[in-house]
Amino acid sequence: MAHPLIDLHAHSSVSDGTETPTQLIRAALEAGLDTIAITDHDSTAGWDEAVAAAAGTGLQVIRGMELSTRDEWRSVHVLGYLFNPNDGDLVPETARIRDDRLTRAERMVGRLSEDFDVTWQDVLAQSGGVSIGRPHIADALVARGIVRTRSEAFASILHFRGGYYLPHAAPTVLDGVRLIANAGGAPVIAHPATRGADAVIDERMLVQLIDAGLVGLEIGHRENTDAGRATLERWAEKYDLVVTGSSDYHGEGKPNRLAENTTSPDALERIIAAARGVEPVRG
Ligand code: AMP
Ligand code: FE
Ligand code: FE
Ligand code: ZN
Repeated sequence: MAHPLIDLHAHSSVSDGTETPTQLIRAALEAGLDTIAITDHDSTAGWDEAVAAAAGTGLQVIRGMELSTRDEWRSVHVLGYLFNPNDGDLVPETARIRDDRLTRAERMVGRLSEDFDVTWQDVLAQSGGVSIGRPHIADALVARGIVRTRSEAFASILHFRGGYYLPHAAPTVLDGVRLIANAGGAPVIAHPATRGADAVIDERMLVQLIDAGLVGLEIGHRENTDAGRATLERWAEKYDLVVTGSSDYHGEGKPNRLAENTTSPDALERIIAAARGVEPVRG
């Protein structure tokens, strides 16, 4: 293959994607991908099904996760690739995040139910039960006819300034990068420049993250602003970071399409070389 298509960021119904891991693997094959990473929010529960579904297809599966972290009050997502899923520090931390995601969603729905005809049962019915989030609340609002789409819900009722938003527990980005690196994984900051000209982290923090084991920056992502990308490219050059590009596919839950951004084989090689938790699997 002249240009193998490599997409290192995709969600399944284990978190807020709309397709099961098996369906995600089929979609990856239909999109002509050579390599896909399954990166559900704060969970590795889709790994085994994805690997099984890829068996015999020739598709390479990179086992990963998108870890929820924060820098002060700002949400920062850290992609972790090829870490040990049984790591004694990472396992309880992701369990803590998922538990708090559940109680936070329930508290948000409590507030929403004062103004809208939506119940906690509606939301539970929309979730795969592993890693719950605002997208499942959005789906319940859609099912009730209160909004038309997830995007409409996020632009209004579920917006962090929409009046119903509550944060969920998350480690600091520095602790998050350390957790992934110490579990043998390769940490990459997801969509680091979704707001204006600035990245979600500043250069001082970036240097600390690199010392803690940060491997790369996801510069190719539809939500990074043009001004922000320029900063990230400068940093990637200065600190010799791996640059990735990915779709952040969520099935029908977002407009993002598989392979709309891709990662070079060289960049993937560097990620694989940096990791020592689990191996890539070619089906
Ligand atoms: P939470 O982590 O529960 O606060 O929810 C944030 C999640 O919602 C992220 O993982 C995004 O993938 C998803 N999300 C954000 N904006 C949108 C949107 N406009 N449409 C669909 N999903 C979205
Ligand atoms: Fe998501
Ligand atoms: Fe994200
Ligand atoms: Zn994502």
